[in-house]
Amino acid sequence: MPISEARVPTRRPGRYLTQLGRHAQAIGHRPGHGGHDAGGASQPHPRMLRVEQSDTTATLEFDRGRCTLDAEPDALVLRIEAPDATSLAQLERLIGSDLERFGNRDQLTVTWHRSDDHRDGDPDHHGGEHDRHGGDHDHHGGDRDQHGGDHPHGPGDAHAQGGDHGHAHRHGGVWGRVRHALVPHSHDSADRVDTALENSRRGVRTLVFSFLALSATAVVQLVVVLFSGSVALLGDTVHNAADSLTALPVGVAFVLGRRAATRRHTYGLGRAEDLAGVVVVLVIAASAVLAGYAAVRRLLDPQPVHQLWVVAAAGVIGFAGNELVARWRVTVGRRIGSAALVADGLHARADGFASLAVVLGAAGVAVGIPLADPVIGLAITVGIAFVAVDAARQVFGRLMDAVDPGTVAAIERAAAGTDRVDRAYDVRVRWVGHSLRAELAVAVDATLPVGAAHRIAHEVEHRLIHAIPRLAAAIVHTEPADAGPAHRALAHHRTAAAPA
Ligand SMILES: [Zn+2]
Ligand SMILES: [Zn+2]
Ligand SMILES: [Zn+2]
Ligand SMILES: [Zn+2]
Repeated sequence: MPISEARVPTRRPGRYLTQLGRHAQAIGHRPGHGGHDAGGASQPHPRMLRVEQSDTTATLEFDRGRCTLDAEPDALVLRIEAPDATSLAQLERLIGSDLERFGNRDQLTVTWHRSDDHRDGDPDHHGGEHDRHGGDHDHHGGDRDQHGGDHPHGPGDAHAQGGDHGHAHRHGGVWGRVRHALVPHSHDSADRVDTALENSRRGVRTLVFSFLALSATAVVQLVVVLFSGSVALLGDTVHNAADSLTALPVGVAFVLGRRAATRRHTYGLGRAEDLAGVVVVLVIAASAVLAGYAAVRRLLDPQPVHQLWVVAAAGVIGFAGNELVARWRVTVGRRIGSAALVADGLHARADGFASLAVVLGAAGVAVGIPLADPVIGLAITVGIAFVAVDAARQVFGRLMDAVDPGTVAAIERAAAGTDRVDRAYDVRVRWVGHSLRAELAVAVDATLPVGAAHRIAHEVEHRLIHAIPRLAAAIVHTEPADAGPAHRALAHHRTAAAPA
């Protein structure tokens, strides 16, 4: 049985062992894992069957072959056994390229050494250099670079439909693919996929909880407003009611955003989140106008405030309700990577302090300053107005496709770092709901066949998905260093469209 071994010196062998084992478990190297379709076309990829793993050793069992990994103190030692040379070469490429990608920062290099007695009559073996990188087999001619039917392009698969990459997960099948496409996920390991599923449920649950908690707070406060006549408390109540209502459109966006793309909505309905954001801004602005109007009227026409202790208690309840919601939102938002939820949480925290101002107003009235109540009411209104402006800025940024410029730089860096990519540029990236989609161009060797260039494009996409948080898909345009002639024909259509 052909055997190949690699000794990879590293200070963190255990870490890479764990990472590789998890990746194998999560993905299974089947046809359809977009980043790993570089194998021979003559034979389908080895299929992942089983992973056994401890802290220092792991065994990846494939239908044609097996890889054992051992974490030694200063190196990760890999050993592949396969029934034939082709399977051996495929496993070398799959495992080697994954490990090199994981170890990119430590500049890990995997060099395979085959047992000498198997060198003869091995058509696939050209010595270490060529077998390390799946894409380097252009010298085999045509059939190496064709799809051989195992590339996941075509109707009915996740890659073509959702723009999502075609990882086939352990749970496999149609349901697995649908789930992979619909649920926000990190695909590095099986447990995180499950956690991601749990997370999105937690996200919705958090919204429901926030809605209930803030509604209850507002109802209790409203009762106190009615018999006390405090406009400061009115402002706080209106604010809390508006905030609880904001959960409704966001909840709708969560549900709609997970719908699959259709031929009418080819990017899915993720942008419902932005629309919901516009509604939120309008609701907050309207609540600011209402609270401001009440406070100004009271300044012009002072009225007594009754039951000051109860008003103060209602302020404390407002603080407690908001702080509870804030903690819940920030924690869950950070975990599922929803900036919107984190921002909502910080907002609720600020609101909690606005509620405490109601207590201050009641104290002022108690010591003989009746204007304290409407003044605090106005201050709360100003607070609501700031919140509205801030939310508006964020939502309009989304509507105008604004992203963090650092994300663009990170995409350029990760793409340019891909094997055989000379340059990466013309990056466009935007949010659709809470995932990012990117387009970019990469310069490659002009003499590469289409198949090889296509593989590079998907390697770039795969690297980006791993490197850029929340990136769901990237469309990569490969072109030769001198793309001038092809681009000149289009030049008169491209005035201000391209980013600098
Ligand atoms: Zn608020
Ligand atoms: Zn493709
Ligand atoms: Zn991957
Ligand atoms: Zn081009």
